[in-house]
Amino acid sequence: MKMTEKDCKGILVFAEQKKERIHRVSYELLGKGKELAAQLDCPLCSVVLGPPDMDVAELIYRGADIVYHITDPMAFAAPDEVLYEQNLVRLIRDVKPEICLFGATNFGRSLAPRVAAKLGAGLTADCTHLAIDQGQLVQIRPAFSENILAHIQSTAYPQMATVRYKEFNEAPRDTNRKGQIKAMEAYVSDNSPVKILEEIVKEDFDIADANVVVAAGAGVKAKEDLKMLQELAELLGGKLGASRAAVEAGLIAKDHQVGYSGNRVKPSIYIACGISGAPQHIAGMKESGIIIAINSDPSAPILNIADYAIVGNLYEIIPKMIRKLKNMKS
Ligand SMILES: Cc1cc2nc3c(=O)[nH]c(=O)nc-3n(C[C@H](O)[C@H](O)[C@H](O)COP(=O)(O)OP(=O)(O)OC[C@H]3O[C@@H](n4cnc5c(N)ncnc54)[C@H](O)[C@@H]3O)c2cc1C
Repeated sequence: MKMTEKDCKGILVFAEQKKERIHRVSYELLGKGKELAAQLDCPLCSVVLGPPDMDVAELIYRGADIVYHITDPMAFAAPDEVLYEQNLVRLIRDVKPEICLFGATNFGRSLAPRVAAKLGAGLTADCTHLAIDQGQLVQIRPAFSENILAHIQSTAYPQMATVRYKEFNEAPRDTNRKGQIKAMEAYVSDNSPVKILEEIVKEDFDIADANVVVAAGAGVKAKEDLKMLQELAELLGGKLGASRAAVEAGLIAKDHQVGYSGNRVKPSIYIACGISGAPQHIAGMKESGIIIAINSDPSAPILNIADYAIVGNLYEIIPKMIRKLKNMKS
């Protein structure tokens, strides 16, 4: 049965965990959720699925009034969306929140639509802002290649959204906060349609976590040339990012892509190397602290948003930067 506006109260934030480490987007959602809950005068709740001995108090410290801890010793070790969906749908039907928020991580993007479909609710993906208007959630996200900001309101309940990582500030941590932790045993079916055959362990790489990003664009001609960008990134304690053109040219994996259809980053320093500055790229990095752009074309748009615009050949400039940094360190 579909939920209606009058059935529903409260905000529920899905806290994603991997190996019992909660993804930081969950703290960002709790930060925003707290603001929305104050406007709606409703409780802020969070749900986490994991082993019974997992420490979930952090969600209280970050603003949750109630934490629903759905427990099973083993079942949530693997990212089985079907199992997560079955348990979340049961909880949501029981608790009846008016708003459900998920991080727009790979897992969140796969899980949230399954939950919404089961509940017969709508879902706005990849929101960049959230607001309340006359008691209703306004879900704001870029549309038409970032040319407009769409304001979306759902008529179905709960109102559901995924929100991009690094859009909101993390909720401050207050270890004196008190809240309720409600532990409940998970529903685990014997015949899950998902069978994990093999786990391929990949480096846990998230460009969004980098404090310094050195990003390669189509101005970088060959894979081999990325070594000098990598060296620069390492000297600065940073990570390698890329434009979509660099990813599509096969220079680097998609995980490194910054922009509208890639990752949103907010490092202290962003160094764009041979990137023209298309709006879809800028959408992913414009919140960076200091932007340094190296481009041989003085009319490249990226130079207009750069704090330091270096017009020249990256193959000459980057080695000079590396030498300078090494000299400073020696
Ligand atoms: C729906 C949609 C989503 C998109 N999503 C993304 C996204 O997430 N991220 C993204 O990046 N793009 C995205 N794009 C693509 C985007 O529009 C651009 O095509 C792309 O960003 C261009 O990448 P670039 O700047 O590396 O390449 P180019 O535009 O080709 O620019 C290369 C730059 O390198 C400079 N250059 C060349 N040689 C040198 C040299 N030796 N030294 C210094 N400078 C040099 C050139 O002057 C030029 O400015 C998207 C497009 C669409 C339609």
